Amino acid sequence: MKLTLIGHNYQYATEQMLLTLFPGERPEYPSSPPAEGENALSLRLFPGNLWATATAKLTYGGKSYTASARVRAPTADMDKVETDRALQRCLKNAFYRAGAAALGREPPWGALTGVRPVKIPTKVLRRGGSLSQADAVLKDYRVAPLRRKLALACAQRTVEAEQSLSPDEVSLYVGVPFCPTRCSYCSFISADVHRALSLVEPYAQALEREISALAQAVRRQGTKVRTVYWGGGTPTTLSPALLDRLLTRLEVELDLSRLTEYTVEAGRPDTVTAEKLAALAAHGVGRISVNPQSMSDAVLKAIGRSHTAADILTAYDLARHGGPFDINMDLIAGLPGDTVAGFRSTLEQVLALAPENITVHTLALKKGAALAQTGTPLPTGEEVSAMLDAAWSALEGAGYRPYYLYRQKYMSGGFENVGWCRPGKENLYNICMMEELHTVLSLGCGGVSKLIDRAKGSLVRVSNPKYPQEYIQTIGHICRQKEELVWPTI
Ligand code: SF4
Repeated sequence: MKLTLIGHNYQYATEQMLLTLFPGERPEYPSSPPAEGENALSLRLFPGNLWATATAKLTYGGKSYTASARVRAPTADMDKVETDRALQRCLKNAFYRAGAAALGREPPWGALTGVRPVKIPTKVLRRGGSLSQADAVLKDYRVAPLRRKLALACAQRTVEAEQSLSPDEVSLYVGVPFCPTRCSYCSFISADVHRALSLVEPYAQALEREISALAQAVRRQGTKVRTVYWGGGTPTTLSPALLDRLLTRLEVELDLSRLTEYTVEAGRPDTVTAEKLAALAAHGVGRISVNPQSMSDAVLKAIGRSHTAADILTAYDLARHGGPFDINMDLIAGLPGDTVAGFRSTLEQVLALAPENITVHTLALKKGAALAQTGTPLPTGEEVSAMLDAAWSALEGAGYRPYYLYRQKYMSGGFENVGWCRPGKENLYNICMMEELHTVLSLGCGGVSKLIDRAKGSLVRVSNPKYPQEYIQTIGHICRQKEELVWPTI
């Protein structure tokens, strides 16, 4: 869509709303006026003395739509952040109103464009506000009733999680970027282990060095590790001996006496063996993920999985009897070849297993995913909506409740990913990471440490290299950076 911004330069805010309303459109900034009937937006800001007014003139599908919005004009005592926030919201509202008129419907999350919608009601509850006050703020953004209910439930869990944290605690994330094969919807950095076999040992050695370097900083600052999460990739792609070696290194180097939650992703059922589960259990891992995504063999084949639904049942059975694990199972709504009836069947089969957590994702296709390039037909937004509705009633009916959620770019229908659990089985790491409740220190390639200062409301990101080769080659520099890392306490 051709975008013309007049009286402001809030490009990012405009593009965020473009993505929310018209995910198939890409922003363009023309040097000459758009042709008659071409999809285009002119977004103008008038900074008045009393009111700042935004007007949106949108052409979409050959028709024109106009809308406006206004806010109190920023005052001299407002800082730049507050001023920008107010003006951007005004511009987004004008664009949203014109866009909703053009579409003839409103997106499920209304005018909210961020990936963390739960932060909004959490902020109200944290200040002592009531659930209905938090709900009113979401209504103001025109969030649909079911999504408001989801966000409020997750906000309550967030406040509870926050109250359980001590100021000297952090979480730890360790990334293992290998998988048995690459899923067609994957846009992570994960490498097919058969092709990347020669990288596994050098990667493990680099990771061991980084664990030692981080441990020095953790000791220096007297910090306690509250949760550990091994993700990736699929950590259980590694051999039992290598898993044991890396888990040993972590517990030798770091004081884990305050640890209340230890998670390892065993997402791919084709990586789960009794020996690996025994290695995890021996190191105190108490939570694993076995992720079917779908229980349809045809859908599994369509997404490039080299296992069947029967293999998922075998892996689950092994996991259930292989240690004292709480088990999470991930599902995805909107996969190629899936139907509403097929998704219901997947839900029924997974619920029959009674895992402690079930995470319901909505397919989000980024450019890097093979599936995004093949043009394979996918379920429509309406079908995805019906799948998520089915998940909601089935999970609630079976005694699960939502505890964390997030949104991503390019999600089918503009929906969300939701973690559901049996009461008391919330994954603290997921809440801390998603709601940015405390510092998360990340190890391994693609890891982004988030150093959070709750008192100042600031967040500093420190990123590791994205790809394994680069990570291995620059591990000396990464270790020096880790040794010197300083993070604030809550
Ligand atoms: S299991 Fe996850 S990380 Fe691995 S290839 Fe599939 S989507 Fe990517």
